[in-house]
Amino acid sequence: MGDVVSSTVRSRMMSGIKGKNTKPEIIVRKALYRKGFRYRIHQSKLAGKPDIVLNKYKTVIFTHGCFWHGHECHIFKWPKSNVNFWTQKIIGNRKRDQKNIAHLLNDGWNVIVIWECALRGKREDAISKLISEIASEIRIQKSGAVISHAG
Ligand SMILES: [Zn+2]
Repeated sequence: MGDVVSSTVRSRMMSGIKGKNTKPEIIVRKALYRKGFRYRIHQSKLAGKPDIVLNKYKTVIFTHGCFWHGHECHIFKWPKSNVNFWTQKIIGNRKRDQKNIAHLLNDGWNVIVIWECALRGKREDAISKLISEIASEIRIQKSGAVISHAG
């Protein structure tokens, strides 16, 4: 898989975080790869189809968009039109996330949730720090725990 990137591409990637092009999922994936982690992506047989699956560490990682997953943070705003539709949709997504996470924990997975606001608009050093934290959380493998990172 094309996870090895040149430093030019990487710096473009990191500076792109403020823009719209680089999805948090990709940033996390590439950074973990550079730290030597190997993983599978979008394992559909697991609840919620986690973005990153580290079998060796029995850990899954979700990168959640703050709007879609209803994270009440500075990024999230309840839409002003189609209010009923969006309220149902977002609350439904939240419930589904909780159910999926409960299911994974029950199966003995460790779950790490990285919210979009933990990465979006952050400086490169802040992102490296976050990735290092996540790397040690993966290695520690807090059994059956869910760890959440938000901005
Ligand atoms: Zn958020």
